[in-house]
Amino acid sequence: MESSPHTSALRTDAPPLRSAVVIGGGVGGLAVALALRRAGIAVDVYEREDHRQDRDTGFTIWSYAVRALLDLGIPASRLDAVGSAIQATELRNTDGRLLELMPLGQVSSRLGAASYDCSRGDLLAALTDAVGPEALHAGSACMAIEQDGERATARFSDGTAASADLLLGADGIRSTVREAVSPGARLNYSGYLGSGGVLEFTHPLLPSGHHIELWGRRTKGGIADVGGGRARWYVITRAPPGGPRPSRETLARHVRGWYPVLHDAIAGTPVHAIAHAEAWDLDPLPTWVDRRVALLGDAAHASTPFAAMGACAAIEDAVALGRLLAAGPLGDALANYQAERKPRGEHVTRHSRTMLRVSTLANPILARLRDAAFAHMPAKRIEQVTEEMASGTG
Ligand SMILES: Cc1cc2nc3c(=O)[nH]c(=O)nc-3n(C[C@H](O)[C@H](O)[C@H](O)COP(=O)(O)OP(=O)(O)OC[C@H]3O[C@@H](n4cnc5c(N)ncnc54)[C@H](O)[C@@H]3O)c2cc1C
Repeated sequence: MESSPHTSALRTDAPPLRSAVVIGGGVGGLAVALALRRAGIAVDVYEREDHRQDRDTGFTIWSYAVRALLDLGIPASRLDAVGSAIQATELRNTDGRLLELMPLGQVSSRLGAASYDCSRGDLLAALTDAVGPEALHAGSACMAIEQDGERATARFSDGTAASADLLLGADGIRSTVREAVSPGARLNYSGYLGSGGVLEFTHPLLPSGHHIELWGRRTKGGIADVGGGRARWYVITRAPPGGPRPSRETLARHVRGWYPVLHDAIAGTPVHAIAHAEAWDLDPLPTWVDRRVALLGDAAHASTPFAAMGACAAIEDAVALGRLLAAGPLGDALANYQAERKPRGEHVTRHSRTMLRVSTLANPILARLRDAAFAHMPAKRIEQVTEEMASGTG
Protein backbone atom coordinates (compact mmCIF):
# COMPACT_ATOMS: atom_id res chain seq x y z
CA MET A 1 0.00 0.00 0.00
CA GLU A 2 1.32 3.44 -0.90
CA SER A 3 0.80 5.91 1.95
CA SER A 4 1.26 9.65 1.53
CA PRO A 5 1.09 12.54 3.99
CA HIS A 6 -2.31 13.27 2.42
CA THR A 7 -3.83 9.85 3.07
CA SER A 8 -2.08 8.86 6.32
CA ALA A 9 -3.72 11.81 8.10
CA LEU A 10 -6.94 9.75 8.36
CA ARG A 11 -7.12 7.35 11.30
CA THR A 12 -7.73 3.72 10.40
CA ASP A 13 -10.14 3.36 13.37
CA ALA A 14 -12.35 6.22 12.07
CA PRO A 15 -16.13 5.51 11.96
CA PRO A 16 -17.36 3.75 8.80
CA LEU A 17 -18.01 5.82 5.73
CA ARG A 18 -21.71 6.58 5.29
CA SER A 19 -22.04 9.35 2.74
CA ALA A 20 -20.31 10.82 -0.29
CA VAL A 21 -20.69 13.88 -2.48
CA VAL A 22 -19.61 13.53 -6.12
CA ILE A 23 -18.82 16.66 -8.13
CA GLY A 24 -19.48 16.09 -11.84
CA GLY A 25 -22.22 14.04 -13.51
CA GLY A 26 -20.21 12.74 -16.47
CA VAL A 27 -19.45 9.09 -17.06
CA GLY A 28 -16.97 8.95 -14.16
CA GLY A 29 -19.21 10.71 -11.64
CA LEU A 30 -22.28 8.64 -12.46
CA ALA A 31 -20.34 5.36 -12.50
CA VAL A 32 -18.74 6.08 -9.13
CA ALA A 33 -22.16 6.93 -7.67
CA LEU A 34 -23.34 3.44 -8.68
CA ALA A 35 -20.17 1.81 -7.34
CA LEU A 36 -20.38 3.58 -3.98
CA ARG A 37 -24.04 2.83 -3.57
CA ARG A 38 -23.28 -0.85 -4.06
CA ALA A 39 -20.78 -0.47 -1.20
CA GLY A 40 -23.63 0.78 1.04
CA ILE A 41 -22.65 4.48 0.87
CA ALA A 42 -25.33 7.16 0.30
CA VAL A 43 -24.30 9.31 -2.67
CA ASP A 44 -25.38 12.64 -4.16
CA VAL A 45 -24.02 13.83 -7.51
CA TYR A 46 -23.74 17.57 -8.30
CA GLU A 47 -23.55 18.52 -11.98
CA ARG A 48 -22.86 22.03 -13.31
CA GLU A 49 -25.03 21.76 -16.44
CA ASP A 50 -28.78 22.01 -15.96
CA HIS A 51 -29.81 20.31 -19.18
CA ARG A 52 -28.55 17.67 -21.56
CA GLN A 53 -26.47 18.99 -24.42
CA ASP A 54 -28.26 18.89 -27.79
CA ARG A 55 -24.99 17.98 -29.54
CA ASP A 56 -24.27 14.30 -29.10
CA THR A 57 -20.93 12.61 -29.66
CA GLY A 58 -19.84 9.01 -29.48
CA PHE A 59 -17.57 6.74 -27.48
CA THR A 60 -15.91 3.42 -27.89
CA ILE A 61 -16.32 1.47 -24.67
CA TRP A 62 -13.97 -1.51 -24.69
CA SER A 63 -14.90 -4.94 -23.36
CA TYR A 64 -13.22 -4.48 -19.94
CA ALA A 65 -15.22 -1.28 -19.26
CA VAL A 66 -18.45 -2.84 -20.56
CA ARG A 67 -17.93 -5.68 -18.06
CA ALA A 68 -17.57 -3.03 -15.36
CA LEU A 69 -20.82 -1.31 -16.44
CA LEU A 70 -22.64 -4.66 -16.34
CA ASP A 71 -21.23 -5.27 -12.84
CA LEU A 72 -22.49 -1.82 -11.79
CA GLY A 73 -26.01 -2.90 -12.74
CA ILE A 74 -26.50 -1.43 -16.22
CA PRO A 75 -28.60 -4.10 -17.98
CA ALA A 76 -27.15 -5.65 -21.15
CA SER A 77 -30.41 -4.74 -22.95
CA ARG A 78 -29.82 -1.06 -22.08
CA LEU A 79 -26.29 -1.21 -23.50
CA ASP A 80 -27.76 -2.66 -26.69
CA ALA A 81 -30.09 0.35 -26.83
CA VAL A 82 -27.35 2.99 -26.38
CA GLY A 83 -24.88 1.51 -28.83
CA SER A 84 -23.84 -1.28 -31.10
CA ALA A 85 -21.63 -4.25 -30.21
CA ILE A 86 -18.52 -3.89 -32.37
CA GLN A 87 -17.88 -6.84 -34.66
CA ALA A 88 -14.82 -5.47 -36.45
CA THR A 89 -12.62 -2.40 -36.66
CA GLU A 90 -11.52 -1.52 -40.20
CA LEU A 91 -8.23 0.32 -40.12
CA ARG A 92 -7.83 2.16 -43.42
CA ASN A 93 -5.81 4.85 -45.11
CA THR A 94 -7.78 8.03 -45.74
CA ASP A 95 -8.06 6.92 -49.40
CA GLY A 96 -9.80 3.76 -48.19
CA ARG A 97 -7.06 1.15 -48.57
CA LEU A 98 -7.65 -1.51 -45.93
CA LEU A 99 -4.63 -1.82 -43.62
CA GLU A 100 -6.17 -4.16 -41.10
CA LEU A 101 -9.44 -5.79 -40.13
CA MET A 102 -9.44 -6.23 -36.39
CA PRO A 103 -11.70 -9.06 -35.13
CA LEU A 104 -13.05 -7.14 -32.14
CA GLY A 105 -16.34 -9.05 -31.89
CA GLN A 106 -14.71 -12.46 -31.66
CA VAL A 107 -11.98 -11.30 -29.26
CA SER A 108 -14.40 -9.36 -27.01
CA SER A 109 -16.82 -12.26 -26.69
CA ARG A 110 -13.89 -14.45 -25.61
CA LEU A 111 -13.18 -11.81 -22.92
CA GLY A 112 -16.76 -12.12 -21.64
CA ALA A 113 -18.39 -8.89 -22.89
CA ALA A 114 -18.78 -7.11 -26.22
CA SER A 115 -17.01 -3.82 -26.91
CA TYR A 116 -19.48 -1.06 -27.90
CA ASP A 117 -19.62 2.06 -29.97
CA CYS A 118 -22.31 4.19 -28.39
CA SER A 119 -23.91 7.58 -28.18
CA ARG A 120 -22.42 9.50 -25.26
CA GLY A 121 -25.77 11.15 -24.51
CA ASP A 122 -27.59 7.81 -24.41
CA LEU A 123 -24.94 6.21 -22.21
CA LEU A 124 -25.18 9.15 -19.76
CA ALA A 125 -28.98 8.78 -19.77
CA ALA A 126 -28.65 5.06 -18.95
CA LEU A 127 -26.26 5.83 -16.08
CA THR A 128 -28.53 8.65 -14.83
CA ASP A 129 -31.53 6.31 -14.80
CA ALA A 130 -29.53 3.76 -12.80
CA VAL A 131 -28.34 6.40 -10.29
CA GLY A 132 -31.88 7.79 -9.98
CA PRO A 133 -32.87 11.39 -10.75
CA GLU A 134 -33.33 12.20 -7.04
CA ALA A 135 -29.58 11.73 -6.43
CA LEU A 136 -28.49 13.93 -9.35
CA HIS A 137 -28.52 17.67 -8.64
CA ALA A 138 -28.27 19.42 -12.01
CA GLY A 139 -27.36 23.09 -12.34
CA SER A 140 -24.99 22.89 -9.31
CA ALA A 141 -21.61 24.39 -10.15
CA CYS A 142 -19.03 23.69 -7.46
CA MET A 143 -16.89 26.77 -6.80
CA ALA A 144 -14.78 25.60 -3.84
CA ILE A 145 -14.30 22.74 -1.42
CA GLU A 146 -13.13 22.55 2.18
CA GLN A 147 -12.68 19.83 4.77
CA ASP A 148 -12.08 19.30 8.49
CA GLY A 149 -11.37 16.11 10.45
CA GLU A 150 -14.96 14.86 10.08
CA ARG A 151 -16.52 16.11 6.82
CA ALA A 152 -15.76 17.47 3.37
CA THR A 153 -17.93 20.26 1.96
CA ALA A 154 -18.61 21.53 -1.56
CA ARG A 155 -19.76 25.12 -2.05
CA PHE A 156 -21.89 25.96 -5.09
CA SER A 157 -22.34 29.09 -7.17
CA ASP A 158 -25.92 29.61 -5.90
CA GLY A 159 -24.67 29.90 -2.29
CA THR A 160 -25.72 26.38 -1.24
CA ALA A 161 -23.35 23.72 0.13
CA ALA A 162 -23.25 19.92 0.49
CA SER A 163 -21.24 17.97 3.09
CA ALA A 164 -20.39 14.29 3.42
CA ASP A 165 -17.79 11.88 4.83
CA LEU A 166 -16.10 11.76 1.42
CA LEU A 167 -15.96 14.13 -1.56
CA LEU A 168 -15.02 12.90 -5.02
CA GLY A 169 -13.92 15.20 -7.84
CA ALA A 170 -15.21 13.77 -11.13
CA ASP A 171 -15.44 17.22 -12.67
CA GLY A 172 -13.43 16.62 -15.80
CA ILE A 173 -10.27 18.02 -17.30
CA ARG A 174 -10.79 21.56 -15.95
CA SER A 175 -11.59 20.31 -12.48
CA THR A 176 -12.30 22.71 -9.62
CA VAL A 177 -11.80 19.97 -7.02
CA ARG A 178 -8.32 19.25 -8.42
CA GLU A 179 -7.21 22.77 -7.56
CA ALA A 180 -7.73 21.92 -3.88
CA VAL A 181 -6.07 18.48 -4.05
CA SER A 182 -3.16 19.09 -6.46
CA PRO A 183 -2.95 22.82 -7.19
CA GLY A 184 -1.15 24.16 -10.25
CA ALA A 185 -1.68 21.11 -12.47
CA ARG A 186 -0.35 21.46 -16.02
CA LEU A 187 -2.56 20.87 -19.07
CA ASN A 188 -0.99 20.31 -22.51
CA TYR A 189 -2.61 21.03 -25.83
CA SER A 190 -1.98 18.36 -28.49
CA GLY A 191 -2.44 20.77 -31.39
CA TYR A 192 -5.54 18.87 -32.54
CA LEU A 193 -9.26 19.61 -32.52
CA GLY A 194 -11.83 16.81 -32.63
CA SER A 195 -15.13 17.44 -34.42
CA GLY A 196 -17.94 14.94 -34.58
CA GLY A 197 -21.59 14.08 -34.44
CA VAL A 198 -24.23 11.38 -34.18
CA LEU A 199 -26.90 11.09 -36.86
CA GLU A 200 -29.43 8.76 -38.40
CA PHE A 201 -27.31 7.15 -41.06
CA THR A 202 -26.81 3.91 -42.91
CA HIS A 203 -24.39 3.44 -45.78
CA PRO A 204 -23.29 0.53 -47.99
CA LEU A 205 -19.67 1.10 -46.86
CA LEU A 206 -20.59 0.91 -43.15
CA PRO A 207 -21.64 -2.65 -42.27
CA SER A 208 -23.57 -3.08 -39.05
CA GLY A 209 -21.25 -3.49 -36.04
CA HIS A 210 -18.27 -1.95 -37.84
CA HIS A 211 -15.99 0.87 -36.74
CA ILE A 212 -13.96 2.40 -39.58
CA GLU A 213 -10.87 4.40 -38.64
CA LEU A 214 -9.11 6.41 -41.37
CA TRP A 215 -5.46 7.37 -40.81
CA GLY A 216 -4.05 10.40 -42.65
CA ARG A 217 -1.11 12.78 -42.42
CA ARG A 218 -1.55 15.14 -39.46
CA THR A 219 -5.23 14.24 -39.46
CA LYS A 220 -7.52 11.27 -39.03
CA GLY A 221 -11.20 10.44 -38.93
CA GLY A 222 -13.62 7.66 -38.36
CA ILE A 223 -17.20 6.48 -38.37
CA ALA A 224 -18.99 3.74 -36.49
CA ASP A 225 -22.39 2.13 -36.31
CA VAL A 226 -24.02 3.00 -32.95
CA GLY A 227 -27.17 0.92 -33.54
CA GLY A 228 -30.77 1.90 -34.23
CA GLY A 229 -29.88 3.10 -37.73
CA ARG A 230 -27.49 5.72 -36.32
CA ALA A 231 -23.76 6.35 -36.74
CA ARG A 232 -21.17 8.48 -35.02
CA TRP A 233 -18.34 10.14 -36.87
CA TYR A 234 -15.26 12.15 -35.95
CA VAL A 235 -12.54 14.13 -37.70
CA ILE A 236 -9.32 15.27 -36.04
CA THR A 237 -7.64 18.36 -37.55
CA ARG A 238 -4.72 20.61 -36.61
CA ALA A 239 -5.96 23.79 -34.94
CA PRO A 240 -4.63 26.46 -32.59
CA PRO A 241 -6.05 26.43 -29.05
CA GLY A 242 -9.17 28.58 -28.79
CA GLY A 243 -9.23 29.01 -32.57
CA PRO A 244 -12.33 29.14 -34.77
CA ARG A 245 -14.37 25.92 -35.13
CA PRO A 246 -14.54 24.47 -38.65
CA SER A 247 -17.95 24.66 -40.30
CA ARG A 248 -19.67 21.56 -41.66
CA GLU A 249 -18.62 22.62 -45.16
CA THR A 250 -14.97 23.00 -44.10
CA LEU A 251 -15.03 19.53 -42.52
CA ALA A 252 -16.69 18.02 -45.60
CA ARG A 253 -14.05 19.68 -47.80
CA HIS A 254 -11.28 18.36 -45.51
CA VAL A 255 -12.35 14.75 -46.06
CA ARG A 256 -13.21 15.04 -49.78
CA GLY A 257 -11.29 12.30 -51.60
CA TRP A 258 -11.20 10.12 -48.46
CA TYR A 259 -13.13 6.85 -48.15
CA PRO A 260 -16.49 8.41 -49.02
CA VAL A 261 -18.64 7.15 -46.16
CA LEU A 262 -17.19 9.82 -43.83
CA HIS A 263 -17.91 12.68 -46.24
CA ASP A 264 -21.47 11.47 -46.70
CA ALA A 265 -22.04 11.34 -42.93
CA ILE A 266 -20.65 14.85 -42.38
CA ALA A 267 -22.72 16.27 -45.23
CA GLY A 268 -25.85 14.69 -43.72
CA THR A 269 -25.33 16.01 -40.17
CA PRO A 270 -27.42 19.03 -39.15
CA VAL A 271 -25.08 21.98 -38.50
CA HIS A 272 -26.32 22.38 -34.90
CA ALA A 273 -25.52 18.71 -34.16
CA ILE A 274 -21.77 19.02 -34.80
CA ALA A 275 -19.66 19.17 -31.62
CA HIS A 276 -16.03 20.23 -31.24
CA ALA A 277 -13.50 19.42 -28.51
CA GLU A 278 -9.86 20.39 -28.30
CA ALA A 279 -7.57 17.49 -27.39
CA TRP A 280 -5.74 18.34 -24.16
CA ASP A 281 -4.10 16.12 -21.60
CA LEU A 282 -2.87 16.44 -18.06
CA ASP A 283 0.66 16.01 -16.67
CA PRO A 284 0.90 13.49 -13.79
CA LEU A 285 -0.33 14.98 -10.51
CA PRO A 286 1.65 14.75 -7.26
CA THR A 287 -1.41 13.19 -5.61
CA TRP A 288 -5.04 12.26 -6.35
CA VAL A 289 -6.02 12.24 -2.67
CA ASP A 290 -6.17 14.76 0.14
CA ARG A 291 -7.64 13.27 3.35
CA ARG A 292 -11.42 13.08 2.60
CA VAL A 293 -11.21 14.20 -0.99
CA ALA A 294 -10.16 12.17 -4.05
CA LEU A 295 -10.10 12.66 -7.82
CA LEU A 296 -11.15 10.31 -10.60
CA GLY A 297 -11.56 10.26 -14.37
CA ASP A 298 -10.33 13.23 -16.40
CA ALA A 299 -9.97 15.31 -13.21
CA ALA A 300 -7.16 12.92 -12.21
CA HIS A 301 -5.67 11.74 -15.51
CA ALA A 302 -7.10 13.43 -18.60
CA SER A 303 -5.76 11.99 -21.85
CA THR A 304 -6.19 12.97 -25.49
CA PRO A 305 -8.83 10.81 -27.22
CA PHE A 306 -6.41 9.03 -29.57
CA ALA A 307 -6.45 5.71 -27.67
CA ALA A 308 -10.21 6.00 -26.93
CA MET A 309 -9.62 5.03 -23.31
CA GLY A 310 -10.45 8.07 -21.13
CA ALA A 311 -14.06 7.18 -20.35
CA CYS A 312 -13.13 3.52 -19.89
CA ALA A 313 -10.43 4.53 -17.40
CA ALA A 314 -12.96 6.70 -15.50
CA ILE A 315 -15.27 3.67 -15.24
CA GLU A 316 -12.35 1.55 -13.97
CA ASP A 317 -11.54 4.23 -11.34
CA ALA A 318 -15.15 4.13 -10.18
CA VAL A 319 -15.20 0.36 -9.79
CA ALA A 320 -11.88 0.39 -7.90
CA LEU A 321 -13.13 3.07 -5.49
CA GLY A 322 -16.34 1.13 -4.79
CA ARG A 323 -14.43 -2.11 -4.14
CA LEU A 324 -11.76 -0.54 -1.93
CA LEU A 325 -14.18 1.61 0.11
CA ALA A 326 -16.27 -1.52 0.81
CA ALA A 327 -13.16 -3.39 1.94
CA GLY A 328 -11.62 -1.14 4.57
CA PRO A 329 -11.30 2.20 6.35
CA LEU A 330 -11.33 5.41 4.33
CA GLY A 331 -7.62 6.26 4.72
CA ASP A 332 -6.51 2.78 3.60
CA ALA A 333 -9.07 2.66 0.79
CA LEU A 334 -7.96 5.97 -0.72
CA ALA A 335 -4.25 5.13 -0.37
CA ASN A 336 -4.86 1.79 -2.08
CA TYR A 337 -6.98 3.49 -4.76
CA GLN A 338 -4.15 5.87 -5.57
CA ALA A 339 -1.55 3.08 -5.56
CA GLU A 340 -3.68 0.92 -7.88
CA ARG A 341 -5.08 3.50 -10.29
CA LYS A 342 -2.54 6.35 -10.58
CA PRO A 343 0.06 4.37 -12.58
CA ARG A 344 -2.71 3.05 -14.83
CA GLY A 345 -4.24 6.50 -15.44
CA GLU A 346 -0.84 7.95 -16.28
CA HIS A 347 -0.18 5.03 -18.64
CA VAL A 348 -3.42 5.84 -20.51
CA THR A 349 -2.26 9.45 -20.96
CA ARG A 350 1.14 8.32 -22.33
CA HIS A 351 -0.42 5.64 -24.55
CA SER A 352 -2.81 8.23 -26.03
CA ARG A 353 0.16 10.45 -26.91
CA THR A 354 1.79 7.49 -28.70
CA MET A 355 -1.43 6.73 -30.59
CA LEU A 356 -1.66 10.38 -31.65
CA ARG A 357 1.83 10.16 -33.22
CA VAL A 358 1.20 6.78 -34.88
CA SER A 359 -2.21 7.60 -36.34
CA THR A 360 -1.35 11.07 -37.70
CA LEU A 361 2.26 10.56 -38.95
CA ALA A 362 3.24 13.52 -41.16
CA ASN A 363 6.37 12.03 -42.76
CA PRO A 364 5.29 10.18 -45.94
CA ILE A 365 8.05 7.56 -45.71
CA LEU A 366 7.27 6.75 -42.09
CA ALA A 367 3.54 6.69 -42.91
CA ARG A 368 4.18 4.18 -45.74
CA LEU A 369 6.31 2.02 -43.43
CA ARG A 370 3.57 2.14 -40.79
CA ASP A 371 0.91 1.17 -43.33
CA ALA A 372 3.05 -1.70 -44.66
CA ALA A 373 3.67 -2.96 -41.12
CA PHE A 374 -0.09 -3.05 -40.46
CA ALA A 375 -0.98 -4.47 -43.87
CA HIS A 376 1.47 -7.39 -43.45
CA MET A 377 0.86 -8.11 -39.81
CA PRO A 378 0.48 -11.85 -39.13
CA ALA A 379 -3.02 -12.92 -38.08
CA LYS A 380 -1.78 -14.02 -34.64
CA ARG A 381 -0.31 -10.58 -33.96
CA ILE A 382 -3.51 -8.82 -35.16
CA GLU A 383 -5.49 -10.88 -32.71
CA GLN A 384 -3.01 -10.03 -29.94
CA VAL A 385 -3.23 -6.26 -30.65
CA THR A 386 -7.03 -6.49 -30.77
CA GLU A 387 -7.06 -8.31 -27.46
CA GLU A 388 -4.79 -5.68 -25.88
CA MET A 389 -7.29 -2.97 -26.89
CA ALA A 390 -10.40 -4.88 -25.79
CA SER A 391 -8.92 -6.00 -22.47
CA GLY A 392 -7.21 -2.68 -21.70
CA THR A 393 -3.79 -4.30 -21.38
CA GLY A 394 -2.21 -2.38 -24.28
C1 LIG B 1 -13.43 13.84 -29.10
C2 LIG B 1 -13.31 12.86 -27.96
C3 LIG B 1 -13.50 11.50 -28.18
C4 LIG B 1 -13.38 10.59 -27.13
N1 LIG B 1 -13.56 9.26 -27.37
C5 LIG B 1 -13.45 8.37 -26.36
C6 LIG B 1 -13.67 6.98 -26.58
O1 LIG B 1 -13.98 6.56 -27.69
N2 LIG B 1 -13.55 6.11 -25.52
C7 LIG B 1 -13.21 6.57 -24.27
O2 LIG B 1 -13.10 5.73 -23.34
N3 LIG B 1 -12.98 7.87 -24.04
C8 LIG B 1 -13.10 8.79 -25.04
N4 LIG B 1 -12.89 10.12 -24.81
C9 LIG B 1 -12.49 10.58 -23.46
C10 LIG B 1 -13.71 10.77 -22.57
O3 LIG B 1 -14.61 11.68 -23.15
C11 LIG B 1 -13.32 11.29 -21.20
O4 LIG B 1 -12.18 10.63 -20.73
C12 LIG B 1 -14.47 11.06 -20.23
O5 LIG B 1 -15.59 11.81 -20.63
C13 LIG B 1 -14.06 11.44 -18.82
O6 LIG B 1 -15.17 11.30 -17.98
P1 LIG B 1 -15.27 12.20 -16.66
O7 LIG B 1 -16.57 11.85 -16.03
O8 LIG B 1 -14.02 12.07 -15.87
O9 LIG B 1 -15.27 13.70 -17.18
P2 LIG B 1 -16.35 14.44 -18.08
O10 LIG B 1 -16.98 13.51 -19.04
O11 LIG B 1 -15.67 15.65 -18.62
O12 LIG B 1 -17.47 14.88 -17.05
C14 LIG B 1 -17.21 15.90 -16.10
C15 LIG B 1 -18.56 16.47 -15.68
O13 LIG B 1 -18.33 17.39 -14.62
C16 LIG B 1 -19.10 18.55 -14.84
N5 LIG B 1 -18.42 19.66 -14.16
C17 LIG B 1 -17.30 20.30 -14.53
N6 LIG B 1 -16.97 21.24 -13.61
C18 LIG B 1 -17.93 21.19 -12.66
C19 LIG B 1 -18.14 21.92 -11.44
N7 LIG B 1 -17.31 22.89 -11.05
N8 LIG B 1 -19.23 21.63 -10.68
C20 LIG B 1 -20.09 20.62 -11.06
N9 LIG B 1 -19.93 19.91 -12.21
C21 LIG B 1 -18.85 20.18 -12.98
C22 LIG B 1 -19.14 18.71 -16.35
O14 LIG B 1 -20.26 19.49 -16.77
C23 LIG B 1 -19.26 17.25 -16.79
O15 LIG B 1 -20.59 16.82 -16.89
C24 LIG B 1 -13.03 11.05 -25.83
C25 LIG B 1 -12.86 12.42 -25.61
C26 LIG B 1 -13.00 13.32 -26.66
C27 LIG B 1 -12.79 14.78 -26.38
